Amino acid sequence: MKRVVIVLLSLGFLISGCNGGASPSVQGGLPDDAGAAAEVITASALLETVNEIASDEMMGRGPGTEGDRLARAYLAQRLEAAGYAPAFGENGYEQPMSMVGVTTELPKKWAFRDAKGRRISLDRADEFIGGSGVQHPAAVIDNAELVFVGYGITAPEEDWDDYKGTDIEGKVLVMLNDDPDWDPELFAGERRLYYGRWKYKYEIAAEKGAVGAIIVHTSLSAGYPWPVVLTGWSGEQFELPAGEEPRIQLKAWMTEEASRRLVEFAGHDLDALIESARSRDFSPVPLGVTTSLDLPVALRETETANVGGILRGSDPDLADEVVFLSAHHDYFGIGAPDETGDTIYNGALDNGVAMAQAISVAEAISALSERPRRSVMVFFPAAEEQGLLGSKYYTEHPTMHPGKMAADINFELGNIWGRTADVTIFGKGKSTLEDILAELVAEQGRYVTSESTPRSGWYYRSDQFSFARIGVPAIWFKSGTDFIDRPEGWGEQQYAGWIERNYHRPSDQVEDWWNLEGLVEDVHLGFQLALTVANADEMPTWYPGDEFEDERLAALAE
Ligand SMILES: [Zn+2]
Repeated sequence: MKRVVIVLLSLGFLISGCNGGASPSVQGGLPDDAGAAAEVITASALLETVNEIASDEMMGRGPGTEGDRLARAYLAQRLEAAGYAPAFGENGYEQPMSMVGVTTELPKKWAFRDAKGRRISLDRADEFIGGSGVQHPAAVIDNAELVFVGYGITAPEEDWDDYKGTDIEGKVLVMLNDDPDWDPELFAGERRLYYGRWKYKYEIAAEKGAVGAIIVHTSLSAGYPWPVVLTGWSGEQFELPAGEEPRIQLKAWMTEEASRRLVEFAGHDLDALIESARSRDFSPVPLGVTTSLDLPVALRETETANVGGILRGSDPDLADEVVFLSAHHDYFGIGAPDETGDTIYNGALDNGVAMAQAISVAEAISALSERPRRSVMVFFPAAEEQGLLGSKYYTEHPTMHPGKMAADINFELGNIWGRTADVTIFGKGKSTLEDILAELVAEQGRYVTSESTPRSGWYYRSDQFSFARIGVPAIWFKSGTDFIDRPEGWGEQQYAGWIERNYHRPSDQVEDWWNLEGLVEDVHLGFQLALTVANADEMPTWYPGDEFEDERLAALAE
């Protein structure tokens, strides 16, 4: 708390132009009129924005739809009104991008053969699900052998390599989900790192030259039950158009039971294989079983766009460095009716509330009498719900060098249940952004927590991850579950109830009972954090040894 006061005083000193011989110890802080500027952050302003974004007129903001276009136009207009310049040159506030819709026809039965010609087959949906890894009219696997590769991880910084140089070109890999979790010294213990995400598994399989990968699903290792995998992998999947990157033909998931059956058929015991994978000495185990598939794939190209506006910094030496405020703008459009017959997926909390937060922070920053030293970019990525596509596209086609991106403060969901004593940092323990935030949280008389389900890997499931991946220190935080004047467990209950009834459903809409008082406090934190980072002498850094540190050091060195 004390340090914040000192920082405040010294920065006020600096801004009033009396810093004389400069003050290298100043690491950032809030200008004198920050409090006055923050007066634009109110519950009614936030609600008004959510009401616009989540209105039926926006038709659920499905990627590539008319609702998508209307939402983007609305956001651009809000950015312009707040004094933010178009971030994408001749394209104005929009960065157009193509997406490919991939629909894979999986067989009802998936057959495997051993060396003696015996067969076993597994049932679609009940035992396996998946999709094409290629954007071709067919995904083809021709008599490829299955190889168990444990966690399928290659991580030099953990001195871990499940492949040991084994040639797995043309094989179908069978992999465990998650990352090693039994030792706090290994892969951050129970906390899931990117190595533990299914996306990583398919990427590394492609990099190693495999033709397919099967992830063994368990509720514990995935963080969610089998039906969630089923919903996620059924129907059309949107992707960015394929580039030069290596790809596998088939991305598959298999239930634990089915995997057990398959492995047993191959003459192995799943538990024994899992046990052997829990060691640095593990080597791939060929299963002596082959499979062939020829899957018809329907492809459809469609367009969407990221939206962004930029407020140029006031310090000529630092204005090229940019602090990002991000919040995805897409949702699921118009779809299957729920039990009330509603077909519009309004996406009020996901992600209307988050966009409202980003807009409020943007407005508070532009209400300051003097612009922050660094530039601020408000960024609304497209197609997040389709796998972070918009932020992935932007970070692969950035408007500045990644080394000039100071930080990303991402907003995702938010608090509609009133004030909390705690603030949750997702994937806590990653960067110095957390040190700044912790001080600001303490100033509010609140405390910091990490999410209660570290295995779920939430850090990798919203747009902050796209920034982290190119090395940019990135953070996602929001109110925790310790609600003021509510009994213990009440917050968890509200949240779980909402997930069950409203998450990714038409009923995610604005309700009369919403209480945005806690959200207002979070927006103040977002504003103060963005401002502190924008005004600090140095950009934030990953904590030493973080999984994204090397990427950052490389970006800064370029
Ligand atoms: Zn979302």
